[in-house]
Amino acid sequence: MKANIGLIGLAVMGQNLVLNMNDHGFKVAVYNRTTSTTQEFLEGPAKDTQVVGANSLEELVGQLQSPRIVMLMVKAGEVVDQYIDTLVPLLSAGDIIVDGGNSLFADTNRRTAQLKEKNINYIGTGVSGGEEGARNGPSIMPGGNKAAWPAVKPIFQAISAKVNGEPCCEWVGDNGAGHYVKMVHNGIEYGDMQLICEAYQLLSEGLGLSADEMHAIFTEWNQGKLSSYLIEISAGILAYKDSDGQPLLEKILDTAGQKGTGKWTGINALDLGIPLTLIGESVFARCLSAQKQERVKAARALPKHTATPFAGDKQAMITAIGDALYAAKIISYAQGFWLMREASKEYKMALNYGEIALMWRGGCIIRSQFLNDIKHAYQTNPQLENLLLADYFIDAMTQSDAGWRKTVILGIEQGIPTPALSSALAYYDGYRSERLPANLLQAQRDYFGAHTYERVDQPRGQFFHTDWTGHG
Ligand code: NAP
Repeated sequence: MKANIGLIGLAVMGQNLVLNMNDHGFKVAVYNRTTSTTQEFLEGPAKDTQVVGANSLEELVGQLQSPRIVMLMVKAGEVVDQYIDTLVPLLSAGDIIVDGGNSLFADTNRRTAQLKEKNINYIGTGVSGGEEGARNGPSIMPGGNKAAWPAVKPIFQAISAKVNGEPCCEWVGDNGAGHYVKMVHNGIEYGDMQLICEAYQLLSEGLGLSADEMHAIFTEWNQGKLSSYLIEISAGILAYKDSDGQPLLEKILDTAGQKGTGKWTGINALDLGIPLTLIGESVFARCLSAQKQERVKAARALPKHTATPFAGDKQAMITAIGDALYAAKIISYAQGFWLMREASKEYKMALNYGEIALMWRGGCIIRSQFLNDIKHAYQTNPQLENLLLADYFIDAMTQSDAGWRKTVILGIEQGIPTPALSSALAYYDGYRSERLPANLLQAQRDYFGAHTYERVDQPRGQFFHTDWTGHG
């Protein structure tokens, strides 16, 4: 019996996806550049499964049923192009190449078009959920050439996470849509993580709470509107004790790493002119955290902020911090979905926002209760311009407003940085301002560069210039 699918790249993601496919009754042929890895996999985790190994790409392709599906789970970038170049001469018209790595969507746009010319159907898919997700059910976001979807769909939907019996995998859109949506997913993940970190610092340094007290708060938050995987694991992290009985968290160096998908999201938002402020701040917060030596120097050179310890109602403040976290999270998703709306038009991806929310409800790192509310908002109004304008979220923002402001004030008073919580509030106040101070900005531009301006007392589209140094 020939294999249903071939998978190239037996690192952590590849191995776990193969085992997941095998569990669901699919026969998988595998190849890895370092062939000893293939051997170790076949003799170890894949022992007593239907998985078959190949020592060359020719052998791999020969093991596959038609149309052949070859999935790449390798390092993103040039490696993917190299594999494609080697595979194409071995494949026939109608065969399928799937890239499941974290490729840049622009590369997937290019590859989809190039392979279409060669009658090879290309899919670029986001796979989220890390190692555990890959093994037990990831969120899968495929896009590319839709002609490939019917053959791949049964495998991907079978292995994906399920929420209420629905697979967290659906066709996302054309060209680089799958990788685009995965990129935005990762950007949103940066935002969610940063918001939780700011709440943690406010609770610990602002209110002086212990790790155990914070564990209890996060556990409670995980029962309500903030319920999500990231809140759940943060509760677990706060409870974890080192061998000396002290919280391990306090011993972890405060420098965050990043692999670049948050940065890509921010760069793309700048390209498209969309204010993606929360994700942008979250990327910069990681950058600042990484500059540990400079921060240590500055902490010694610059005067310390002296604050009176918080003396108010702690319980009310904890509730306010939860409200702030929720409101800022709504801003982050509203910004992310707005970005996808613009990208869908710009790159002709025909994105389906309700399906995207559905796919993110399970399997992936940002999975949460909250995504049901987003799905519902798009179900009610598929043309929804901005999530913030959906009735449900208007109510949620109204209810959270006071607590959010109190939280940002707490950060300011206590000298605790809240770049994501406070910039989200600034965005919110700006977004619902009928008038911003850009009148002065435009006057400045006209002053030094004769860039002209429009007037509020004249129809739009008429441009004026003033000789600002002459007499008015
Ligand atoms: P990885 O460390 O990103 O990549 C390792 C795989 O790529 C190995 O099979 C390796 O082969 C192959 N490879 C690297 N350079 C190569 C080259 N020059 N020529 C041929 N093969 C080469 O593995 P991963 O963490 O499992 O991730 C796979 C993909 O999924 C990546 O694109 C990653 O960004 C994405 N992803 C990862 C996660 C995660 O949690 N790790 C989650 C979602 C998506 P050798 O064994 O021969 O070196």
